[in-house]
Amino acid sequence: MTCGAQFAPSTTPPSRCDVCEDERQYVGWSGQQWGTLDELQRDHINEIREDLGLTGIGTKPSFAIGQRALLVRSPAGNLLWDCITLLDDATAASIRELGGVRAIAISHPHYYSSMVEWSRCFNAPIYLHAADRQWVMRPDDAIQFWSEDIKALWDGMTLIRAGGHFEGGTVLHLPAGAEGKGALLAGDIITPAQDRRWVSFMYSYPNYIPLPASEIDRIVAAVEPFDFDRIYGAWWDRNVASDAKAAVRRSAERYKRALGG
Ligand SMILES: [Zn+2]
Repeated sequence: MTCGAQFAPSTTPPSRCDVCEDERQYVGWSGQQWGTLDELQRDHINEIREDLGLTGIGTKPSFAIGQRALLVRSPAGNLLWDCITLLDDATAASIRELGGVRAIAISHPHYYSSMVEWSRCFNAPIYLHAADRQWVMRPDDAIQFWSEDIKALWDGMTLIRAGGHFEGGTVLHLPAGAEGKGALLAGDIITPAQDRRWVSFMYSYPNYIPLPASEIDRIVAAVEPFDFDRIYGAWWDRNVASDAKAAVRRSAERYKRALGG
């Protein structure tokens, strides 16, 4: 219930959750709690609405980490960027009306959520970076691991392995985003700060563990070859609307100054 990762079906709850027990996450203060998708469908719904020109899908009331996914509508097929735990019939019907899902790509393990349910519902493959293979709590044949630094999709979309928060931390470059100026869909690999003009980068957000300067340089270098004016973060409206590439550069410098390097 804390990280939202779905496990394979079992008659009794799993004994532990690797994602929660990792130092990037935490076990809830009342101890590990388990639930089922059926239960989640009973007391939560998904909201589907526009978020700065893209279609967002998020759960109400907020569940687990509280991220929203983004449905990137594209001529050769829609991409579901990141994922959420709740999938129900109403959500599936709404997304089918928007053209369905050709494939799912996820920035890092905190948003693997119930990706296998989504994959089966839309008959869509799931693209995950192979460096994070150990964090898949529900293995499935639909998962396609990629191990390069970039992976080209369709309509010019590109998955970029940036590292940082997770070894396989991935962002999506969308050349048609931001009215053709380009956008990055960044999960919390590159996180828009509260002022939405700067970004940050963390090893652990809940436990306040920063990244070393070498990882900051790695993230900046990974996105440098791409043109983008906008960054979409992991939560509703947490976006850098414009001038995002300069925001990444100056935020990286600020971060490294704070580290004292
Ligand atoms: Zn995370």
